[in-house]
Amino acid sequence: MFDSLSTKLQKVFRHLKGYGKLTEQNIQDALREVRLALLEADVHYKVAKDFIAKVAERAVGQEVMRSLTPGQQVIKIVHESLTELMGGTAMPLDLSGKPPQGIMLVGLQGSGKTTTAGKLARHLSKSGRKPCLIPADVYRPAAIDQLITLGRQLNIPVYAASSRDKPEEIAASAAAFAKESQSDVMLVDTAGRLHIDTELMDELKRLKNILHPKEILLVADAMTGQDAVQVAGAFHDAVGLTGVILTKLDGDARGGAALSIKAVTGCPIKFVGVGEKLDALEVFHPDRMSSRILG
Ligand code: GDP
Repeated sequence: MFDSLSTKLQKVFRHLKGYGKLTEQNIQDALREVRLALLEADVHYKVAKDFIAKVAERAVGQEVMRSLTPGQQVIKIVHESLTELMGGTAMPLDLSGKPPQGIMLVGLQGSGKTTTAGKLARHLSKSGRKPCLIPADVYRPAAIDQLITLGRQLNIPVYAASSRDKPEEIAASAAAFAKESQSDVMLVDTAGRLHIDTELMDELKRLKNILHPKEILLVADAMTGQDAVQVAGAFHDAVGLTGVILTKLDGDARGGAALSIKAVTGCPIKFVGVGEKLDALEVFHPDRMSSRILG
């Protein structure tokens, strides 16, 4: 995960650790390398700039801790700052209140939305919830079939939608189906498009008004880097996201999306997809991600 970024940062810090004493110049030189590594990983330029400014301020004015060498102290500051950049702490789903609660999954086509609906259903089921799946992507009949197959595999009820139904009708029937199937969470898979368009956003707004979901999660492909960040911004402006699920982190994504989304849009990453299988979903822990990146 983020191999190139990790290798570059580790090289900078190996170098830093070698010094017994650090001058302000050593720190500035190292941070310049860190900034370049972030930019090459497709981190938003402003995010990278602000990040470096914050680290520099902390590193130069730091209290000397006897237990750490100066190099280790800078690494510690970078670790803490990366963690903060990605949201600080893990953000659990909010499914409080009277069941059934709704989770709307939104995103562009091919981002991994339908697969993620299955993964999330499995995750919720393992955490003691009783999810059901609601296919509201009527423009792609294959998406409905895909969800029915996933539901069968997971032994999770799936609303029998047809491609002739209107998404709004499906949404309006979802709560009754959830009650009937004794489910306490409705996972609603919505339509995706190749590009963001007003028609899609208007449909999502209508579904939101019908479902009153507790969570609206954007499923975004980490491999698309800054595009994923832009997509998150556009969806957030239109429907008000409560979080992001970043998929395909098992591929050769450079890290830009994971590191920039929270800072640019204010939306926390709640889960990451790390494979095609149904168990390949992880709760996103910013501190663990920083540790992975810094090695
Ligand atoms: P949708 O169009 O957004 O519903 O996307 P799909 O759920 O059909 O997924 C598109 C492709 O991405 C499929 O081949 C999935 O197996 C794949 N995919 C989804 N999530 C992940 C992931 O986390 N890692 C990898 N490697 N592939 C994924």
